[in-house]
Amino acid sequence: MKEQLTMDKLSNHCKRTGFVFQGSEIYGGMGNTWDYGPLGIELKRNIKKYWWQKTVQESENSFGVDSSILMNPTVWKASGHVDSFSDPLMDCKECKTRHRADKLIEEYAHKKGIEVNADAMSKEELYAYIIEHGIKCPNCGKQNFTDIRNFNLMFETSRGVNEEKQNKIYLRPETAQGEYVNFLNVQRTTRAKLPFGIANIGKAFRNEITPGNFTFRTLEFEQMEHQLFCRDSEAMGFYEFYKQFAMDFFTFLGIKRENLRFKDHDKLAHYAKCACDVQYKFPWGFDEISGTHHRGTWDLSRHQEFSGKQMTYTDPFTNETFIPTVVEHTIGCDRFALCALCDAYDEEELENGETRIVMHFSPKLAPYKVAILPLQKQQSEKAKEVKKMLAKNFMVTFDESGSIGKRYRRQDEIGTPFCVTIDFDTLEDDTVTIRDRDTMKQDRIKISEIKNYLDEKLDL
Ligand SMILES: [Zn+2]
Repeated sequence: MKEQLTMDKLSNHCKRTGFVFQGSEIYGGMGNTWDYGPLGIELKRNIKKYWWQKTVQESENSFGVDSSILMNPTVWKASGHVDSFSDPLMDCKECKTRHRADKLIEEYAHKKGIEVNADAMSKEELYAYIIEHGIKCPNCGKQNFTDIRNFNLMFETSRGVNEEKQNKIYLRPETAQGEYVNFLNVQRTTRAKLPFGIANIGKAFRNEITPGNFTFRTLEFEQMEHQLFCRDSEAMGFYEFYKQFAMDFFTFLGIKRENLRFKDHDKLAHYAKCACDVQYKFPWGFDEISGTHHRGTWDLSRHQEFSGKQMTYTDPFTNETFIPTVVEHTIGCDRFALCALCDAYDEEELENGETRIVMHFSPKLAPYKVAILPLQKQQSEKAKEVKKMLAKNFMVTFDESGSIGKRYRRQDEIGTPFCVTIDFDTLEDDTVTIRDRDTMKQDRIKISEIKNYLDEKLDL
């Protein structure tokens, strides 16, 4: 059934059930912004929780930071973002719409079924390709473009209330710089020896003009980033390790391996030794959800140069002092959420001929782990007691309206792994029916056994 999934269908489902709403919807919305609803936030919290567990809690030598969104603007000079973080944009002279030249080419190539690597093209090559292949404006169908110009993707704002003293600052376009600028602080306070890592989860902002496939490309998004600082001789080993780590993280949370692939970067940043993405097979094709990058000593060297601080490490045994090499791994939290939604969505035909929508989330990702359903109003109080008991350990939802069949459907379509039904017998003998989302099989167990039953089956 997977091939029938479209982003329209998915976004409607998300809106109807409470995963994702359009940003500022009552004002007609705002392009490329989305709000996560009661279910979406739980999904994202689960992703972040397990990423932190795998990256920091279970790691040998990694530590967290929560760095600020607003940074000294010199950071972005040092990182190269002020000079070269831009998109190649061109305007249609006929209808005055603005387009990303590389995306126009990619869409064209995708339709024609040709392989093209727009990422690796210069401005001039992009322009020549568009003219040569007669690629038209997707809005008006004419071909009358301006030259391609590079537009910086950073959101600018200003600090200070006094007009004359305004200073231009930026909303961070990535969280990574927060780890680099705290390299010395973290090393000093943790007394960490190389190799060690710094993890950070937070919002980043990019002024993208291309509207993008539901929540895939948005103006603000949440990144989960980890920088591993090591000796240069160890870096390739860690690069391979984190490449696999990223892939394993997706499958650990239930994403189907056949929908994932590694993709080496065709065009490397000049300082990078190698870079590899994990891509997911979205309804529009394979696209990036995470990246692993061997960044050499570029980041710390640049911060040393621009800040004047020694960004070095002294080996306690050899006394050698050097700038560590960085291996970065980064996962887009919103993109993970979108890939989890796509991967989980299913429409199943039932024996009675009806169709049910069911989200086959890994229990680890499911927003609610269990739903409590009193069959009739008389069992409402008992059901609330059970909910209260379980809520100490699990996200629990409660539903007492509509037929039991309808209520099962509601839980299926938000991916709740188990439903507990409280019925007339419950009041007599303290037993309940517990139903499995995927198999729809039911067990009769004692209320006192529910927690152990869930612990075992959910394996959180
Ligand atoms: Zn046009």
